[in-house]
Amino acid sequence: MKFADLHLHTQFSDGTFTPEELAGHGARLGFAAMALTDHDTVEGCARMGVACAAAGIEFIPGTELTAELGDTELHLLGYFLDTHNEKLLREIARFQAVRQNRIHEMVAAINKLGVPLAAESVFALANCKSPGRPHVARAMIKAGLVKNLDEAFEWFLKKGRPAWVPKAKMSALEGIELIHQAGGLAVMAHPGLNRTDDIIPALVEAGLDGIECFHTKHSTAMSERYLEIAEKYDLLVTGGSDCHGFSKNKPLIGTVKLPYEHVERLYAARQNRKSEIGNRK
Ligand SMILES: [Zn+2]
Ligand SMILES: [Zn+2]
Repeated sequence: MKFADLHLHTQFSDGTFTPEELAGHGARLGFAAMALTDHDTVEGCARMGVACAAAGIEFIPGTELTAELGDTELHLLGYFLDTHNEKLLREIARFQAVRQNRIHEMVAAINKLGVPLAAESVFALANCKSPGRPHVARAMIKAGLVKNLDEAFEWFLKKGRPAWVPKAKMSALEGIELIHQAGGLAVMAHPGLNRTDDIIPALVEAGLDGIECFHTKHSTAMSERYLEIAEKYDLLVTGGSDCHGFSKNKPLIGTVKLPYEHVERLYAARQNRKSEIGNRK
């Protein structure tokens, strides 16, 4: 049997692995295909592609966008993206700026509580264009302000806690369109985590291509439920570990093994999309 992991993060967002380390783990676990889906960036894809090729692993360039539909937040995975697409890069840069501003706002809120954390220490630790809450938490640990990530999130960073700052998001419909115009397939990430089943029909209407049925935090019952939904709406099925390296837990890569037949369907869908676009021209 051949397997894939289509949901992975590196140091180019909030993961701790380099692309080379991640590809190394993939090779050790015997994955046939891997996708990189760092938050709001495609920067790591070039290096990941080279590392995967050297390890004999098929590579799918991707990203994970934070979006919203009405009041519902969701994550959208984009696969087979043209990582040089101008509009994609422009929009991504805009959301990276939003992330960087948010770090300043969170740090200011933490300082207001009398906790001395410097924004520069967060940026230095993150060392990427897509900094996020895990980087704030890690900088707090490094400065000896909290003992671990759980404390950082429970005391400060979780939604509803004093240093939580809402993040401006793109609409899900814009997100799907952005992925499509960059030649990609748009997939709803970990629907079981966000409990957002009621918005699936609207996403399908907007052109959603697939749904992440298999995810580390999905129970077997959840995966089965989303496989049924995929069948009902004729959506592609994806899956991945959502590994962030040594972040909150030990590395999750290997916990989800997507059967390769689903990757073949992704290739076929991408091919169809390409010929559709070709016919329109
Ligand atoms: Zn996510
Ligand atoms: Zn993720």
